[in-house]
Amino acid sequence: MSLMVCPLASGSSGNAIYIGDEKNKILIDCGLSGKKTEELLQSRGSSCSELDGIILTHEHSDHIKGAGILARRWKLPIFTRPGTWGAGGEILDSIPTSQQKLLLSGLSFGKIEIDFFHLSHDAAEPVGLLIRWGKNQVALVTDLGEPSPELEKRIYGSDVLIVEANHDPDMLASGPYPHFLKKRVRGSHGHLSNDDCGLLLSRVLNEKPVQVYLAHLSEQNNDPQIARLTVENFLKGKGKDSGVKIEVASRYCASFPFELL
Ligand SMILES: [Zn+2]
Ligand SMILES: [Zn+2]
Repeated sequence: MSLMVCPLASGSSGNAIYIGDEKNKILIDCGLSGKKTEELLQSRGSSCSELDGIILTHEHSDHIKGAGILARRWKLPIFTRPGTWGAGGEILDSIPTSQQKLLLSGLSFGKIEIDFFHLSHDAAEPVGLLIRWGKNQVALVTDLGEPSPELEKRIYGSDVLIVEANHDPDMLASGPYPHFLKKRVRGSHGHLSNDDCGLLLSRVLNEKPVQVYLAHLSEQNNDPQIARLTVENFLKGKGKDSGVKIEVASRYCASFPFELL
């Protein structure tokens, strides 16, 4: 048996991550249309009809936009924090009550175990996720203003890390965003820069090989090459680059999947 981990889309235009083994399959976030999500799942050999459920990290529309449609169409349970249900507005209200599930403690779907931790971000109750599968661990940390020591402890030693590299600070400073938005993005409840991503990774990598997906890149304030080079150089400078494989998660199409055995 193997576990496939695959970001299906990443960034403010919509986020979704597929995780599945031969028996159980879940979607994390659903910020694309129902049709697009189905297409992306099919491109990775799965489909909405096979999903056990959808887990939502927070209520921003780039993470929940298609959740109502898919939940109704495929009768899927949706799991998220009480604060996210409260703040999710019409999209989450449209989900049948029997499919509205609270994410209060760990969840398991067969061999896939899910746990969560709180993130600093400007949403009601945003969470990062830890997915355990046997001895393997996958960590998802996007939409994060600043990491905490607690967060670093939780994700330390993960085999797959999907971590936000949202912006290049110079591109953000000289870019088109209005002042209030620049302040929000770089604030402690905003988004993680490429440099902060490198620093976080350098603190949570141990000696073993690891797959890193740089995720939630800004279209205006970042560039995939700059994000990759910044993080690679940072890890090299700290002597933490050996055995680290870095992919930049694609914005509009499924990324190269990673298989855990
Ligand atoms: Zn987002
Ligand atoms: Zn967000």
